Amino acid sequence: MPELPEVENVRATLAELVVGRTIKAVDIGVPKMIRGIEADQFATDLTNETFVAIRRRGKFLLLDTTNYTILSHLRMEGKYRLAPQTEARTKHTHIVFQLTDEDELRYLDVRKFGTMELVARGDEGSTRAIQKLGPEPFGDDFQLAAFKAALARSTRGIKNVLLDQKAVVGLGNIYVDEVCFQAQVHPTKASNSLTAAEVTRLYDVTRSILTEAVRLGGSTIRTYVNSQGKIGNYQDKLLVYGHKGEPCPHCGSLIEKIQYHGRGTHYCPSCQPK
Ligand SMILES: [Zn+2]
Repeated sequence: MPELPEVENVRATLAELVVGRTIKAVDIGVPKMIRGIEADQFATDLTNETFVAIRRRGKFLLLDTTNYTILSHLRMEGKYRLAPQTEARTKHTHIVFQLTDEDELRYLDVRKFGTMELVARGDEGSTRAIQKLGPEPFGDDFQLAAFKAALARSTRGIKNVLLDQKAVVGLGNIYVDEVCFQAQVHPTKASNSLTAAEVTRLYDVTRSILTEAVRLGGSTIRTYVNSQGKIGNYQDKLLVYGHKGEPCPHCGSLIEKIQYHGRGTHYCPSCQPK
């Protein structure tokens, strides 16, 4: 599943590929992927629109056109690909933006979990999905005091609190394990029981890990590749995720993997005592 760094990589690549290009027609093979309006209306509204910017909020891609913003969520396996219109479409191609030149932007999704929604340009804040999101993990949006307050409000395990995108956006199952490890916090420890020092470490490493992961283009785990087929390189930096049974890089204890609320969870029992 792409997490924030991977979506940011897709965003940057899509911006290079489609900004300035105009949509001639939209083909929708799986109407249920279009949310909020009828698929036919989605296609009609976007005809003759030009892509003007590609933004991101949390794990949503925001494709701005002349008059609209497409909110695109890749979920498990969604991918964009630019291809010549003459090239045969593969069977997992479900939504296609034909461009006025010789190319088309294809949305592929093996599991069809991805979604697209259309709002007036820049009006994504009117959607429930965006309203629910916490601050971005970069810049002034992300403040320690607000993060502390959010964590103090929950008795749930810190991993779950960090995954729900309210205290901060951008952490999925891979990066949250890395954040807890580098902050030396046990992933199932109750959020409201964390010390001020632990919260500060979580805050600092969330920022640093996601910044570094974005810089490296994200991690390549299973099927993720960006729109140009480029892979990310952060997977080589992962210290606990995918390292069950291997020595902890800090203390040499063996990394453990448990199931926590249905998610594989990696941690060092010595560095992250409960
Ligand atoms: Zn350790």
